[in-house]
Amino acid sequence: MSGLGEQVRQRILDAVDAGFDTQIAFTRDLVARPSIRGQEHLAQDLMFQAMRSRGLAMDRWRVNADDIKHHEGFSPIAVDYANAWNVVGTHRPNAETGRSVILNGHVDVVPAGPLDMWNSPPFDPRIDGDWMYGRGAGDMKAGVVANMFALDALRAAGVQPAGTVHLESVCEEESTGNGALATLLRGYTADAALISEPTGLHLTRAVMGVLWFKVKVRGYPVHVSRAGTGSNAIMAAYDLVASLREIEARWNGIKGETKHYGALGHPVNLNIGKIQGGDWASSVPAWCEMDCRISIYPGHKPQAMAREIEDAIRTASSAHPFLSNNPPEVEFNGFFTEGYDLEPGSDAEQTLAAQHHAVTREALGDQPTTAYVDSRVFVLYGNMPTLVYGPEAENVHGFDERVRISSIREATKTIALFVADWCGVEPAGAA
Ligand SMILES: [Zn+2]
Repeated sequence: MSGLGEQVRQRILDAVDAGFDTQIAFTRDLVARPSIRGQEHLAQDLMFQAMRSRGLAMDRWRVNADDIKHHEGFSPIAVDYANAWNVVGTHRPNAETGRSVILNGHVDVVPAGPLDMWNSPPFDPRIDGDWMYGRGAGDMKAGVVANMFALDALRAAGVQPAGTVHLESVCEEESTGNGALATLLRGYTADAALISEPTGLHLTRAVMGVLWFKVKVRGYPVHVSRAGTGSNAIMAAYDLVASLREIEARWNGIKGETKHYGALGHPVNLNIGKIQGGDWASSVPAWCEMDCRISIYPGHKPQAMAREIEDAIRTASSAHPFLSNNPPEVEFNGFFTEGYDLEPGSDAEQTLAAQHHAVTREALGDQPTTAYVDSRVFVLYGNMPTLVYGPEAENVHGFDERVRISSIREATKTIALFVADWCGVEPAGAA
């Protein structure tokens, strides 16, 4: 089942335990850095220093949209990339006798939302029993740190991977996936990739694509006393939301045609995430803008699904007295990504399953996710077997996000053994 000697395996597991307090302390430090979009450098500075101090060959660069926008996996952006940094640390073996691997994770986190809804401040991580609370603790700073400490455990056990390992800490996972895409286009590939997203120690079998779009609705302002003669952009937006809901229902209605999403209750989720409009209470609003997100099934192309959305908005507008002559604009301004199904039974999957069993004494379960994961970059454009596997988290993107500490320990052990088994090992240290 595995080429790993029993002694080496036990030394690696012991090393994860011995380093675990340090690992949790480092995880807290990383969670304390509020690396929401536009501030990813706060976390990347710490990751860069930590990887460099471990002797990895370092590469740090700012994602440049011009370098990647020609690629079909690129998502359009409407923000500045001044702080969109990627960090990659590379381990090179003395004798390259084994297979290579990418260990990937993202440090960007979603906004905390209203602070009064949290039981403790989102960027002041708190440990209570077996849980660490904080924005990004689960999604996915615990995983990013687990990747690095998995490599530490090998070294502490007196060995190192006999293949190249790229330790990737990327940005832009929560809004575009352009961070991971930039690593691929910079030349980082491997015989397999592992992303330690919080999967509850399950393997992710399928990933959906995601589209972000902004609908810009115009109105015709008049004094409210003559509102009947104007056109209210906010009220018109309600009608457009109804037509988007119809798309959501239609796409959920064909879930049975997919490989992995038929058993889920409601795989396609439309989110009206942000809405703005009007200027004050006594004028009919002349404008309304909605930021929306919807998911698409594996095999469906973003371009085709985007056209369906545009068509639905156009059809709904054609029945409207003002919008029929002033059609809303639909701007795709973020995620424009395709999903995928993971083919079962790859060597990499078997290796992970064996090591997961060695750590947990349970069979490796799998599940599809209705969310976006950066793995689509590696699978669709890098042709790499890609395993999404990591600790257990709750309330990701919600209030009181938390990650189960014992699951971090198990994930770190599994990842460490996976790397040792997949890459093979050689004595630690310089040749
Ligand atoms: Zn994530």
